[in-house]
Amino acid sequence: MNEFELIAHLCRGLPTNASTRVGPGDDCAVLDLGVPGRWLLFKTDAVVEGVHFAPETDPRGVGRKALARAFSDVAAMAGTPTHALVTLGTSGARGVTWLEAVYDGLAALARQFEVAVVGGETTRTSGPTFLSVSVLGWVAADRCVLRSGARAGDGLWVTGELGGSLESGRHLGFDPRLSEARWLAETVSVHAMIDLSDGLAGDLQHVLTASGVGAELFAEAIPVSRAARECARAGGKAALAAALADGEDFELLMAVPAAEAVRLRDGWHARFPDVRLSLIGKVTAGRELRVRDRGGTRRLELDGYVHFRQP
Ligand SMILES: [Mg+2]
Repeated sequence: MNEFELIAHLCRGLPTNASTRVGPGDDCAVLDLGVPGRWLLFKTDAVVEGVHFAPETDPRGVGRKALARAFSDVAAMAGTPTHALVTLGTSGARGVTWLEAVYDGLAALARQFEVAVVGGETTRTSGPTFLSVSVLGWVAADRCVLRSGARAGDGLWVTGELGGSLESGRHLGFDPRLSEARWLAETVSVHAMIDLSDGLAGDLQHVLTASGVGAELFAEAIPVSRAARECARAGGKAALAAALADGEDFELLMAVPAAEAVRLRDGWHARFPDVRLSLIGKVTAGRELRVRDRGGTRRLELDGYVHFRQP
């Protein structure tokens, strides 16, 4: 059983109630608590020493990343985060100075996005240090974007550049694409969206499965990061493989009707001139994920992404 099958297995049969618009299985839970025109977004996420950050990582970056990951999931629904709770578990081997720096990093990002950190919990653990963050946010009810709405013929678009996030340090310092996502939902008909945490191929597959469709990726259009290219030159995996499989890019992947492609591209370049936006493929009626390159099209074999581990 892989990670995603385990989650699906554990979540089967969990109770929901009448206010639950979307339960487990999307980037955030979506709740209708009776606020006119607004749905609440609810998300929790954790970073663990040795899995999501190395023991020697700058503690400010650790705190920042813990919160930014959850913000990225709010972005994936085109929402706005408002409040966070933070739980810290540590063995006591970390001094107060280290822990203060974690909270400094976290607070700086919260301030940047005007999010209130309104409580949490600290606990002693015999294992590695971890931070668990829960975020509350909201989205206009008619703008909320799920994973499940992709339709055959949609273009597949991705923000930024992919691969090598671990090597470049982007996994610690990225800015969650919150304003970009809201602009997208206000400007074009975003049928489906997800943030890239597990790697393009795996996260695209989540969208395809949720939407009951397939896709064809254009290999040469996939925006490969400089870090991925440098790693490939240094003997690492091929740059395209890194862009497809490396996790923690925290970019946005979305499906938008082909008829809106020109409006999307022109509007994006005017609004976000410094952020790349790439049309990387199309949604197809079959269930397969295929990739097209100069040699033709072939089925894409997915490597299950294993979260960052230190040796
Ligand atoms: Mg996500």
